[in-house]
Amino acid sequence: VSKTGQPLALCVDLGGTKTLSAAVTRDGQVLARDLCPTPASAGVDSVMRAAVDSLRRVFIQAGLAARDAGAIGLAMPGISDPEKGIVYSSPNLPDWHNVPVAAVFREAFDCPAYVINDANAAALGEMYYGAARGITDFVYITVSTGIGGGVVIGGELYTGVTGLAGELGHMTILDDGPDCPCGNKGCWEMLASGTALGREARRRISDGEPSAILDIVGGDIERVTAREVHRAYRQGDRLAAELVKRAAYYLGVGLTNIVNIFNPEMVVVGGGLLKLGEVLLGPAREMVSARAYPEAARAARIVTAGLGGDSGLLGAAAYALDQKQRPKSSRG
Ligand SMILES: [Zn+2]
Repeated sequence: VSKTGQPLALCVDLGGTKTLSAAVTRDGQVLARDLCPTPASAGVDSVMRAAVDSLRRVFIQAGLAARDAGAIGLAMPGISDPEKGIVYSSPNLPDWHNVPVAAVFREAFDCPAYVINDANAAALGEMYYGAARGITDFVYITVSTGIGGGVVIGGELYTGVTGLAGELGHMTILDDGPDCPCGNKGCWEMLASGTALGREARRRISDGEPSAILDIVGGDIERVTAREVHRAYRQGDRLAAELVKRAAYYLGVGLTNIVNIFNPEMVVVGGGLLKLGEVLLGPAREMVSARAYPEAARAARIVTAGLGGDSGLLGAAAYALDQKQRPKSSRG
């Protein structure tokens, strides 16, 4: 419990490149936060140690003791089992297999700890504190390195039978499209993510298409990412404009599927690629209007996330407090 009497959670949003930690009250107030790089290439133990140390710094900064926190929420990338608190595998943490993440934190802080998929956490964050406040039926997607998703139905996160529901980035868009690390081909995230944008840029520049993108990276094609495409786009580069148009097209294809499948009141779109803003979302919205069922398209507001990079962090905190309150019998 915080000094104001609000229930307090500790939370970690562990990404492939950075780890965010915070102490957050039930009403979404961040009392202290810490940001550190994720030592992904140093292996599982180093990553876990860095995350635990990060959370310790949050304690110190906030002047808290471990007993002040009611629960720890852990937003994790990849495939996890929320019931067991185990991360099975993670695309951005290559050597991760069956890591008992919740147990590590429970032992380090003597406090109940709960694991949740990072995109699912972000969906909850947006529902409690962000763009989807008061909305009971919506879909959250994050478009960055990959595409993650979270589905909220009737005010509850829909997790499926084994916790895997909402892997929207892996719906098939092109049945003979690029190979995806998940084992499928032509997944949405292989066509509309930031990674896809960078990859397509490198391919077309290698094919000899002229572009300011190449000048931005000093002629080193391997350094081309979505960020350089965005910069060239702002400079009026023709290839960059075509690439952004293509990403917006495939974003629209996937959003059309989502709107037809879920008939949501809102689709909240977050993630790094949304720095492109309306350039990306505008054409995608138009495609949804043109191709989805008109009644579904009219009902679905497609908006940008309200919490920016904090959706997952705040959602993990809320999730942990929710889980702690739940009677054990209803926990599956
Ligand atoms: Zn896939």
